Amino acid sequence: MYFFIEDTNESVKIGRAKDVEQRRKALQTGNPRKLHLLGWIHTKNGADVSLEKSLHKEYSPHRGSGEWFDIDPADVLPILARHGIDGFAGLSGKSFEVIGHDQDGIPEYHGVWAWGDLEHYECCPFCGSFCGLQYQEASCMYHCLQCDAFTSLEDPNHQEEE
Ligand SMILES: [Zn+2]
Repeated sequence: MYFFIEDTNESVKIGRAKDVEQRRKALQTGNPRKLHLLGWIHTKNGADVSLEKSLHKEYSPHRGSGEWFDIDPADVLPILARHGIDGFAGLSGKSFEVIGHDQDGIPEYHGVWAWGDLEHYECCPFCGSFCGLQYQEASCMYHCLQCDAFTSLEDPNHQEEE
């Protein structure tokens, strides 16, 4: 199950594919606008068919042509989030990139997701899974259950001290 958005378009394509990246490339061919992957959901045993059906039904009032829906990219977030560890956000690849500094000189970072606010405890910044990063007391590191990444998260998404 995947969600795409076109560069200049406010609509979102809801569809399914075995290989999301392969589908994106196929759809990109001959399309002057760039396709971005908003996210995807990992499904088992053909559950993608019924999931696609229910999502197409849920958003049918916003349906444009084909599988394109006139919804805000951020609307996709709760769909992905409710699938937890099987929901993935399409990452911008710029997570943790410093985009500037605030008045106090504290660095500000690119969010995990390009289309809305997502924090590392909601969504893994490495694989995009909505299992989020779990803090492990023993190692003092954050851990992702999906991709098994460990990070100390030194500065990213700097938490303000009260
Ligand atoms: Zn991960």
